[in-house]
Amino acid sequence: MEYDIHIECAACDCGMTETQVGGVNANGQWTEYRESKCHECDGSGIVYVGREVYDSLADLKADYPESFAQNLVTKEWN
Ligand SMILES: [Zn+2]
Repeated sequence: MEYDIHIECAACDCGMTETQVGGVNANGQWTEYRESKCHECDGSGIVYVGREVYDSLADLKADYPESFAQNLVTKEWN
């Protein structure tokens, strides 16, 4: 069976990344965390791995334990 496989983005937390910025101004040193949209997954939190063929869902999950896969025949998400 053919599956479209997606996995959680490893580069961010739910599509957002936190970057620490800082510097020195008249009040002294400052640091701030800025949230921005993740570039790896375009803010979706999920990355498309590709289309692969597996005999069963168990085989797919053995390769991608944390994946979301859509069965292209049944259109079912697993
Ligand atoms: Zn991401």
